[in-house]
Amino acid sequence: MDDRKAHLAQAVKSYRKKVAWSLDRAARETGVSKAMLGQIERQESSPTIDTLWKIATGFSVSLSSLLEPAPDRVTTTEIKTLDDLRRDPANEGMSTALIFPYEPRFGFEYFELILRPGYQRISQSHEVGVVEHIVVTQGKLEILLDGNWQPLDAGKAIRFAADRKHGYRNPTSREVVFQLVIHYPSKEARLEPEEV
Ligand code: MN
Repeated sequence: MDDRKAHLAQAVKSYRKKVAWSLDRAARETGVSKAMLGQIERQESSPTIDTLWKIATGFSVSLSSLLEPAPDRVTTTEIKTLDDLRRDPANEGMSTALIFPYEPRFGFEYFELILRPGYQRISQSHEVGVVEHIVVTQGKLEILLDGNWQPLDAGKAIRFAADRKHGYRNPTSREVVFQLVIHYPSKEARLEPEEV
């Protein structure tokens, strides 16, 4: 946990330095309060996913880059165990596993999400050009798009532009499991370091 807080603090500080934003400016650009940004940089806060998304969108970086360090070596063949990767950020009623973090050469990050019964999250617009791909593998998910909740049973998949308001919910009494691939627009305007 402290590793994750330390990484996040370091990431936010370094992104802020790169673009030379004061805390005031960063608060304006991300929509996260100056007080909260300060707490994050001092490792005093475990922010919610919504807050992390605001930071990622404000700085035009991937969500992955706030969750863990970039891989220190470039490999293509990788075996992961989902059970080792599942986290329950801020006890929000949702488990997230960052299976394949964002890498500039691939342009996407790959998550597994598990929504507890009754969980609902409304997501604000991500960075322009971000597209989400979802495959439901267990239960019945509902996705909010254009003001309508679209039901998606296990075995269904959807792709949508995520640079607009959208939402996820589990209206049932059983867990919902889905795979989420988030694709980011091309690198040029983005802050993250190019791969070595
Ligand atoms: Mn989203």
